[in-house]
Amino acid sequence: MPQVFDAIVIGAGAMGSAATYYLRQRGQRVLLLEQFALDHRQGSSYGHSRIIRYAYDHPEYVELAKDTFPLWFDVQDKLGEQLVVQTGGLDFGPPGEASLEATIAAMRASGLPYELLTPAEASARFPQFRLADDFKALYQPESGFVKASKAVLGHINLAKAKGAVVKEGTAVTAIDVGSNSVAVSTANEAYSAGRLIVTAGAWAKRLLQQTGLDLPLAPLRCQLNFMAPTEMAPYQAENCPVWIAHVAGLFPESIYGIPSHGGSGFKIAFHGGPAYPNPAEISREPDEENVAALRPFMRAHIPGIAGAPVRESRICLYTQTPDEHFIVDKHPEHAHVAIGAGFSGHGFKFSTTVGKMLCEIALDGDTPHNDSLFKIARFTG
Ligand SMILES: Cc1cc2nc3c(=O)[nH]c(=O)nc-3n(C[C@H](O)[C@H](O)[C@H](O)COP(=O)(O)OP(=O)(O)OC[C@H]3O[C@@H](n4cnc5c(N)ncnc54)[C@H](O)[C@@H]3O)c2cc1C
Repeated sequence: MPQVFDAIVIGAGAMGSAATYYLRQRGQRVLLLEQFALDHRQGSSYGHSRIIRYAYDHPEYVELAKDTFPLWFDVQDKLGEQLVVQTGGLDFGPPGEASLEATIAAMRASGLPYELLTPAEASARFPQFRLADDFKALYQPESGFVKASKAVLGHINLAKAKGAVVKEGTAVTAIDVGSNSVAVSTANEAYSAGRLIVTAGAWAKRLLQQTGLDLPLAPLRCQLNFMAPTEMAPYQAENCPVWIAHVAGLFPESIYGIPSHGGSGFKIAFHGGPAYPNPAEISREPDEENVAALRPFMRAHIPGIAGAPVRESRICLYTQTPDEHFIVDKHPEHAHVAIGAGFSGHGFKFSTTVGKMLCEIALDGDTPHNDSLFKIARFTG
């Protein structure tokens, strides 16, 4: 006989772990199923850090960030462990660069503190960075990073402490959606529940096809690099902001980074990577060419690390939507199925809020948080 739950969550990444936590907060009997080990390195959510910021090129994300910081602080209080490290954040780039100009405009309208710095002012305050004479720079003091793996495991441990059932190494092989319940099968077990939340990351497209839904989701292979300059102090979290350079590199959008903490090394990466139809086919072996392609940028803008050795490089997956906005919505055919997918390389910071939104959409049919950008109908008409 299938084991019965109020809700089943597929995928224990940033989104599924958070959804499981909020479902338990709402007293639901919840089962979380993960195909690999918890905190594995095959998906999108593992590792040292992910940038968290208010400074965004869409006002909707600025508003969502206002909901998000307090939720993270609440989770870290419950955990008794720091998850969010606020280093300040620096956005910079050439005048007229669309995403930078939109970020400045959104901050102007936000009511939040920020400063526009000249290149000289930016380099005086952050001598690690050298900006071109015509560059613009925006500094926002509350930005920083979330400790990624700690946050994912934190949500899971809080949920387990309240009775959530978590099964790792347990891949969902089949989903059968009934009129008001869902049956889920794995290699050895069958489970049923009144609600289902699908947060399957780069695997979501194939899994959701079983429910008659084909979403435009593309897995991207992205590389992170951690640099180890001899003189590391200026690149430590206590001395250096998170940063986003709105300049084109190997990939169209930006180059970004996070200061070193806990011995991680100074993180630098391109925002983006090549697309693959199937996440299982993606090599997890980093490329030296990726770092080589970043050196000219380092020489120009962060000269102190340009010659530094690489401490470590890792591969991680984005799941890209065509407009790079998330999907946080109910299934168009099945209101008792909620979907969190397509976080396009910028979802982690919001994961505690997205988890809460998915829980609310599954239980209440709607969420009080602004989900106007995240509707499936924009793709399915
Ligand atoms: C290099 C890189 C840098 C990033 N930097 C930032 C940043 O600075 N700031 C930010 O906000 N965001 C950032 N992101 C984005 C962020 O990390 C992702 O948006 C977020 O982690 C997505 O979480 P997820 O839960 O959707 O995916 P995942 O973590 O991939 O979780 C999906 C889970 O579902 C499981 N699964 C799939 N199919 C099945 C199945 N059939 N049965 C059981 N389990 C299944 C998978 O194994 C996986 O564990 C970055 C991402 C990358 C890759």
